[in-house]
Amino acid sequence: MNFKDLSLIEIIEKIKSWKTTRQEVWDYFMNRIEKYDSKIKAYNFVNKKWLSEKDWKLAWVPIAIKDIFCEKNIPTTSASKMLEDFKPPYNATVIEKLLKEGMSSQWKVNMDEFAMGSTTATSALNTTINPWGTNRIPWGSSGGSAAAVAAWLAPAALWTDTGWSIRQPASVCWVVWFKPSYWRNSRFWVNAMASSLDTPWTLTKTVKDAALLYEIMNWEDTKENTSIPWKDIIDSKIWETKNFSWIKVWVPKQYFEEWLDSWVKEIIEKAIEDMKNAGAEIVEIDLPMTKYAIATYYILMPAEVSTNLSRLDWIRYWYNSDKQYSNTDELFMNNRAEWFWDEVKRRIILGSYVLSAWYYDAYYQKAAKVRTLIIEDFKKAFEKCDIIVWPVSPSVAWELWEKSDDPLKMYLSDAYTIPASLAWLPAMSIPAWYAKSEDWKNEILPVWIHMITPQFEEQKLFEIANTYESLTKHYKMPEGYND
Ligand code: GLN
Repeated sequence: MNFKDLSLIEIIEKIKSWKTTRQEVWDYFMNRIEKYDSKIKAYNFVNKKWLSEKDWKLAWVPIAIKDIFCEKNIPTTSASKMLEDFKPPYNATVIEKLLKEGMSSQWKVNMDEFAMGSTTATSALNTTINPWGTNRIPWGSSGGSAAAVAAWLAPAALWTDTGWSIRQPASVCWVVWFKPSYWRNSRFWVNAMASSLDTPWTLTKTVKDAALLYEIMNWEDTKENTSIPWKDIIDSKIWETKNFSWIKVWVPKQYFEEWLDSWVKEIIEKAIEDMKNAGAEIVEIDLPMTKYAIATYYILMPAEVSTNLSRLDWIRYWYNSDKQYSNTDELFMNNRAEWFWDEVKRRIILGSYVLSAWYYDAYYQKAAKVRTLIIEDFKKAFEKCDIIVWPVSPSVAWELWEKSDDPLKMYLSDAYTIPASLAWLPAMSIPAWYAKSEDWKNEILPVWIHMITPQFEEQKLFEIANTYESLTKHYKMPEGYND
């Protein structure tokens, strides 16, 4: 059977109604990995043995997992030389939840080292390529997750988002990206980048697939003190909505400034027009504090990074330095200098600086206050609207290495995604259309629309995104992966 035109839910239904078998599904995706992964290098590790545990909800389908989620006895590297041989003795809570409901695979996908980066080219293990281009980045840090689902080497993937990690990859790879409110899930045994921002969630072909995994994964973890103690069960009525006559869509004017690529701007404006034609009331809003979001993020995030990564010191996890040393400090320094890459080192240094006694008040504390103002900005906006819509990224996918020598430029492309991360809001990005230009030979490059709702209003997000998806029917597969 060819599963290419099916969604995750449809594949599960076919297994449950005996029209196919779990073995056939497993072989189908395994064959595709063998055939195509050498082209895009999405996978860091594929366990060829399947797990067939417990429940039936997922009918033993395979799911690709970002290499940041600990899986028992399976290499979990965070795409770093520092953890290259690390096999955790435990599963992350989200992995436990998926296994309990019948996920069958232990397939690890590539990422930027410790999730820091915007291209997946700062992975110390592999360079993943966007299946939509011949030499284009899948963005990052969860580029492996996005490329794997876009090329249909897995029917869904798990990722974490700290600042934009998957909204950008999803948007340039043509898959549905979903992130709930920060409090909906557990980070337990997910290798930490910046704990007040890290949010694990899913990447799928359709909005309904995202909702299925959301229902399985959202729930309290008693080992995680930021997870809320109630479960969100989706009301099936939301799937019946056919238009937007019941919503007010707010478009923040700051986000259509001139540094947005003309291709992206045109497509997003057209998507907003489509929502208007389907009945939505469109209003412009002002989010004055969000212009400080990047500066705030690039102070708070490195501060948390420098704290979280200090545990990687040689004493724990594994030893891989043969350099000589005369005392323990020197040993730590040798090992950390040798096995972290530049991007990670840059952030550890920056983070240690903003947390130092001299600069703590001037940087860290001020940034924490600005974060509160950004949260207030969103609260005020949501008193007057149901959803905020803007682009995901300011440009289409770059060529590989195009901006790697200019980290600042790379950081600036986080402008559209960081505000929702700082404010712990649910967000989703789905296909708007694609851009074409003679300069890109025959490449067509996807552009995504980004939707944000108030905290804990994930169901409204699903309802609006599903309506948009059914009105537009924009899903496509990249050429060359289509058989
Ligand atoms: N571009 C962001 C950064 O480098 C991505 C982080 C993330 O979401 N993992 O910080």
